[in-house]
Amino acid sequence: MLRGMMMDRPLLVSSVIDYAADVYPDVEIVSNTVEGGIHRYGYKASRERIGRLANALIGLGVKPGDRVATLAWNGYRHFELYYAIAGIGAVCHTINPRLFPEQMTYIANHAEDTTLFFDLTFLPLVEKLKPSFKTINTYVLMTDREHMPANGIAGLLCYEGLLSEMSPDIVWPEFDENAACALCYTSGTTGEPKGVLYSNRSMLLHTFFLIATRPDLFAHNRTILPVVPLFHANAWSLPYITPLTGCKFILPGAKLDGPTLYDLMETEGADAGWGVPTVWLGLIDEFKKKGRKPRNLRQILSGGSAVPQAMIDTLTRDYDIEVTHGWGMTEMSPVGTLTVFRPEEQKLPPMERAKLSAKQGRRMFGVDLKIIDEQGNRGAHDGEASGELFVRGSTIVSGYFNNEDASRKQIDSEGWFGTGDVAKIQKDGWLLIVDRTKDLVKSGGEWISSIDVENAALACKGLANCAVIGVPHPKWHERPLLVAVKAPGAEPTKAEILDVLGSKIAKWQMPDDVVFVDALPMTATGKISKKDLRAKFADYQLPEQAQG
Ligand code: AMP
Repeated sequence: MLRGMMMDRPLLVSSVIDYAADVYPDVEIVSNTVEGGIHRYGYKASRERIGRLANALIGLGVKPGDRVATLAWNGYRHFELYYAIAGIGAVCHTINPRLFPEQMTYIANHAEDTTLFFDLTFLPLVEKLKPSFKTINTYVLMTDREHMPANGIAGLLCYEGLLSEMSPDIVWPEFDENAACALCYTSGTTGEPKGVLYSNRSMLLHTFFLIATRPDLFAHNRTILPVVPLFHANAWSLPYITPLTGCKFILPGAKLDGPTLYDLMETEGADAGWGVPTVWLGLIDEFKKKGRKPRNLRQILSGGSAVPQAMIDTLTRDYDIEVTHGWGMTEMSPVGTLTVFRPEEQKLPPMERAKLSAKQGRRMFGVDLKIIDEQGNRGAHDGEASGELFVRGSTIVSGYFNNEDASRKQIDSEGWFGTGDVAKIQKDGWLLIVDRTKDLVKSGGEWISSIDVENAALACKGLANCAVIGVPHPKWHERPLLVAVKAPGAEPTKAEILDVLGSKIAKWQMPDDVVFVDALPMTATGKISKKDLRAKFADYQLPEQAQG
């Protein structure tokens, strides 16, 4: 091999904010704050505070590789944490506040977090969970001195207090680009959530690949509002992309209802919004009430679940908003595919393009796709063959953090990652997700484990067997339906079953309905065939819908 003679400089996350401070000093980050009111500053001012925060972290004893957790909404302090933590070589562990308390405890302990930064909203939660956190020794409330509680957590530190005592000057340490920079846990089908540990290199490559695949989404002067949370899958890389491309970044805080999002988009002139389909329903309602969209809004990037054709059509036809559909996973940093038009498709009328946008997209640069059928053979990319979708690339997990069992199960002998999604790939590269092998229901962008609900239901006397599947729902995309088989001679009622479940699982996990059947369909290997069940109940009307 003849080695290239170029400088071997590491790709580090810290370089992104330095670039933005240098090249786009006054482009703004605008936040709807948890305390109330709007906060705004430019990338240069942000970099200064990130320097202060990094010095504070070093002062608190945070070392390279340490996991520093966040429990926070989309706001400027969360953005600062992304950079300050990664900048000093530590790992920003974003915890999803929508998980159950027990899962949060598991995650924080499994990650061995040393420090927790949290928004005011989560003060009561953290007070409750603190005794169960085994490794966290420093708690920082992400607020100013005026909002600090008089008592509660002993030794609780104040974010603004810490920053005010520190110098903004910091020269970022240089280290191997493969050093971890962020950690995010994803819910599993069974068992506990699994940690995806991103590296500085993978994070920057994902950022570059996304920009390279759809440069138009980030052309200068764009104003992007991520509804997708910073605590989930790196907010689809936006905290890195916006500073790198000089986009104005609008962080919506805790309130994500239609009227609040509309007002923020209107006043800040957002031209693009990113988020799961469920959030756009509320926003579209607001468009209807106001008789128009926010003045500059012209693009919505949606993914996390299939984006319904009707939603794409409404946004395109009635509001002249282009929908870009993305598919991906936490394990993929997260983008795998997104709407990418060929020149001839770009020329199609908007409603024709809208049809193409309902597909899950074409692969992002850097992501390879293959489908594997039930016999383990590679399926053709002909739009006919379907099978489990496997992916490969430098922005995709090679294994889960400290979880060899889970890693073994999902990486095949050729080193590809099994997504648990069932897909077809068309000759011209469009991906279609047609089903999933993983036993999960995705409601409003959050996972519900079918198996957890089934286990809870089976505790109900009089049930011989049961299965939980997701059925279509207009707002939440899908909701759980419990399909149950009565034990011989028993007559359990729907109300009794829901009563038992109500004491075991959270309200948002509860099945929307219970249907009794004589027998469940089985596969050749004796497992319940969820595929057949899903097909049987594909058009099932949940009670609320039937009434509505
Ligand atoms: P998460 O890691 O929580 O972001 O979930 C990733 C999973 O969400 C994927 O494996 C799919 O099952 C589902 N998903 C994400 N985006 C889409 C999409 N555009 N269409 C269908 N399913 C999707």
